[in-house]
Amino acid sequence: ELAQRMAERAVDLVKFFMKQGQMMKPGDVIDADTAELIAVEFGHTVKRVAESDVEEGMFNIEDRSEDLQSRPPVVTIMGHVDHGKTSTLDAIRDARVASGEAGGITQHIGAYQVEHNGQKITFIDTPGHAAFTQMRARGAQVTDIAILVVAADDSVMPQTIESISHAKAAGVPIIVAINKIDKHEADAQKVRNQLLQHDVFVESMGGEVLDVEISATKKLNIDKLLEAVLLQAEILDLKANPDRTAEGVVIEAKLDKGRGSVATVLVNTGTLNVGDIIAVGNEWGRVRALVNDGGEQIKSAGPSMPVEILGLQGTPQAGDRFAVVENEAKAREISDYRQRLAREKAVARQAGQRGSLEQMMSQLQTSGLKQFPLIIKGDVQGSVEAINVALDKLGTDEVRARIVHSGAGAITESDISLAETSGAVILGFNVRANKQARAAADQDGIEIRYYNIIYDLVDDIKQAMSGLLSPER
Ligand code: GDP
Repeated sequence: ELAQRMAERAVDLVKFFMKQGQMMKPGDVIDADTAELIAVEFGHTVKRVAESDVEEGMFNIEDRSEDLQSRPPVVTIMGHVDHGKTSTLDAIRDARVASGEAGGITQHIGAYQVEHNGQKITFIDTPGHAAFTQMRARGAQVTDIAILVVAADDSVMPQTIESISHAKAAGVPIIVAINKIDKHEADAQKVRNQLLQHDVFVESMGGEVLDVEISATKKLNIDKLLEAVLLQAEILDLKANPDRTAEGVVIEAKLDKGRGSVATVLVNTGTLNVGDIIAVGNEWGRVRALVNDGGEQIKSAGPSMPVEILGLQGTPQAGDRFAVVENEAKAREISDYRQRLAREKAVARQAGQRGSLEQMMSQLQTSGLKQFPLIIKGDVQGSVEAINVALDKLGTDEVRARIVHSGAGAITESDISLAETSGAVILGFNVRANKQARAAADQDGIEIRYYNIIYDLVDDIKQAMSGLLSPER
């Protein structure tokens, strides 16, 4: 690739390396310094391109506070399977159609907006935390508020706890929707009590987390839930500047037979217009058309507004960021650069650069952060609790374990994505990772350690901690 860029023959580069005593063949990877040396040697002028150079003009415009205006909150619905996430999303969507709002909802684009008391709210249309964490793993945070749906006849379950961990790791406030209150076995108070054990304190229990009793299928208190969202949004004081070039995040993307690459994006800031040129993930394109959640073509989309973009050259991925750039050349330069970066990363991964407990320790050491994130999965709740207590006791003023998430059950993909976003190592006690989780861990370079004796587990972590304490190690 370097030879090609210099319009030289690859064989001449190989010869040059040989003279230096290095055996290289086309396709081998060299570092930036070596590349620069060679380019200069071959009589070329080198311009080092860092990410910050390429992306100059992207993500770096500071907004003046007087330009900021309120923007709608972006909400994700999370919770245990069958607790009513989809039903809640449907109930909210139906409320909009019932209110006779223009357009109604005719198509699924990955997110939709409703209006309540004259204020807009954006809902991510994919329930569950998988989408949420995948996006975060790609460095994008789109969710402002998480609605945690808990069925009142089933109370707190494993995925409820997972959802809490995900929201907490992301620093996203939770609103609890206690669902299925129409059922005669519903026990809302039990839900509140159980949430306490997971550090979710609802208002009536002396905390600050808003909770609403709803029935998604009977459409009870859906308006109260929306009011709670707006109240929480007010507390968060969400703002953006609509009068600037747009930036945002892809929440869904696909290759459509008839329409080509289609990406649904959420505008974070600025206003996106038809005709804008955008760089998005490793791709770019000129916005040929914008389609809203009602299936209507629109000319522009402002902050927190979900919209489909048509006209991209390739299909980006969920979680990719986009920004409007000044011209096509710039857009191409950015996508070329990012594609190259992605290739290099893939090569590095193949070369076996894996995260490990040791690596994490040395990273923490250099960053000076003396706590390390762990995810604990065990066969039964009792052993998980015992491990938590033992690890907690290990902590000193200088260094301590931070349990990002713990629970009973096999290690799943959700644990892997949580590990990736929080930088945690996963410890399995008498449990294994399922097949998908193993594949994901392999791909993302997440370390999973297995134990069947609590003492061994605690001792390992103790060793690692003492490594953190003595800088000479
Ligand atoms: P999800 O897996 O969390 O998306 O849950 P769903 O929305 O698919 O709901 C699971 C089941 O619970 C479905 O059979 C729903 O009809 C039922 N359900 C959801 N909300 C309610 C409710 O408020 N009351 C009652 N009685 N059933 C509900």
